[in-house]
Amino acid sequence: MNVLYIYAHPEPRSFNSALRDIAMVTLARSGHQVKVSNLYVMKFKAVLDPQDFRIRADPDHFNPATEQIHGVRTGSLAPDIREEIEKISWADLLIFQFPIWWSYMPAILKGWIDRVFVQGFVVNLEESRVYDCGLLRGKRALIVATCGSTEEMYSKGGVHGDLREHLSIITHTIFEFTGMEALSPFIIYNVPALTREEGGHQLERYRSFLEMF
Ligand SMILES: Cc1cc2nc3c(=O)[nH]c(=O)nc-3n(C[C@H](O)[C@H](O)[C@H](O)COP(=O)(O)OP(=O)(O)OC[C@H]3O[C@@H](n4cnc5c(N)ncnc54)[C@H](O)[C@@H]3O)c2cc1C
Repeated sequence: MNVLYIYAHPEPRSFNSALRDIAMVTLARSGHQVKVSNLYVMKFKAVLDPQDFRIRADPDHFNPATEQIHGVRTGSLAPDIREEIEKISWADLLIFQFPIWWSYMPAILKGWIDRVFVQGFVVNLEESRVYDCGLLRGKRALIVATCGSTEEMYSKGGVHGDLREHLSIITHTIFEFTGMEALSPFIIYNVPALTREEGGHQLERYRSFLEMF
């Protein structure tokens, strides 16, 4: 299986970094091919703007959706976007690993989606190619997330509400909208409070989880 691992944490010695390292070893041992988009290391430009489009459909009025469709048709999207699109085309499984920031993904990852999940590549609204007919049909997508709050705080009836429901903004309206099968997110709660030993247990849990692929 071809796996694209999209990773968004700014610190190379973080717990997230250890999780990513475990994933690299485990997926390779299972015989999978892996490509990584390490967004902070790439200094990935996180803001969709007119510079993303080398040949404009309309140079006088910037309509991002129109320019995305035109950019796909004319092959004129910025090179960093085209590189990510090629990786997605190659992948059978997309793994998005990130720390929960404000009950969502870090801005650099949201920017990656804004810029790389271009209309005309992931969906075609004119032809109703969304959800079951989305252009990424046949691929699977998985969220691997760490958070500071406890599982109780992020449960139904907890102070924050159910994190899995919050994440459905991603799993349903991004992954499934584009035709992908959304796998159940792998979440680690209360991470800043983990001792090294407890962290080690969580790394083992992640290794066992990935060995099922
Ligand atoms: C802007 C912002 C917004 C946030 N919003 C939210 C929010 O809305 N909801 C929420 O719940 N949280 C939130 N947080 C908290 C955030 O989700 C957590 O701080 C983050 O998930 C912790 O992951 P980390 O990789 O940075 O952990 P680290 O701080 O790197 O590590 C945590 C612990 O893991 C252990 N550890 C580290 N490395 C290893 C290793 N190699 N082996 C074994 N153990 C290890 C250590 O004991 C360490 O103390 C927010 C944080 C920020 C900065």
